[in-house]
Amino acid sequence: MNQKDIPQLAGNEALLHELRLMRQGGHLPHALLLHGAHGCGKKTAAKWFTMLAMCEDAEHAPCGECKACRLIAEDVHPDVFYAEHSGKRGGFSVETVREIRMQADILPNNGDLRIFLFPDADGMSIQAQNALLKSVEEPPAHAAFVFTAETAGVLLPTLLSRMTVKAVFPVTDAACVNVLKERGYSAEDAEAAVQRFGGNIGKCISYLTDETVRQSAETAAELTGALAVKDEYALLRLLTAAAADRDIFRRTLELFDAQIRDAAAATLHEDLPPLGCDARSASALAMRLTPKQTVRLHEAVLTAYADLDSNVSAVLTASALCAALMNCSAN
Ligand SMILES: [Zn+2]
Repeated sequence: MNQKDIPQLAGNEALLHELRLMRQGGHLPHALLLHGAHGCGKKTAAKWFTMLAMCEDAEHAPCGECKACRLIAEDVHPDVFYAEHSGKRGGFSVETVREIRMQADILPNNGDLRIFLFPDADGMSIQAQNALLKSVEEPPAHAAFVFTAETAGVLLPTLLSRMTVKAVFPVTDAACVNVLKERGYSAEDAEAAVQRFGGNIGKCISYLTDETVRQSAETAAELTGALAVKDEYALLRLLTAAAADRDIFRRTLELFDAQIRDAAAATLHEDLPPLGCDARSASALAMRLTPKQTVRLHEAVLTAYADLDSNVSAVLTASALCAALMNCSAN
């Protein structure tokens, strides 16, 4: 058994078990949507599903050893197609979809299946979805379509109703620390990453490998803490420091906005999975705010973001945002 060639999706045992049973029972879905937060392993799950579906050993699929498994592991299987992204929003063009429909009509080279993957389908336009509808509604017996997206709601109901829809979940904090240690990170680094991004393995890895993500996450956490105690001086200092680098500033604002969203969810007593990078300061902020105030804070961050996009100086944006944040959170 060549385990290392099988895509390793941590946690999510129920999902893998269910899909395995489908393969053993001979009724794998012809269209599958895997949805979940950015970084939680949807693409790994999609590749695992591809291997499960095409493996030559039905009993032990995915075996990781047969020809099909090996070709998939190396990303060179002639019957596996990844739709290419195009355009500003990272969608799929109608031409790409037409090309895939054509490919779907062609018989498989090797086994009895051709699989078409649409990773990050969140930006897929209505036109592209409509162009694909017929193939998903009445797929040739040998074709299967696999989509990944952050939320199921991005796809048209007509398309969704033809699909098997499954969620991919982050793992527990402890499991995430273990996965990170297995991948060679120190216990200390693994703990620091999990403190920021919980059981989201993809986000934890980008925190540990991308200095921009790490700095932005630390600043966004500190900003939330400063806002919770209305420390105007700290807010201005943190925002101005982040503004020295436009990239870091943008990322910081994104994560800070996610913190405000988590605080907003807490003020409404909504049990939503967190999107931010520091649960403690988000709940401290939630204690001090009304739901209405969190909306105004969110709008203040969006304004700052729009200013940056229209080339207002980063330092000016930082000081305007600081004033707006103090104003929004005034009693
Ligand atoms: Zn196999």
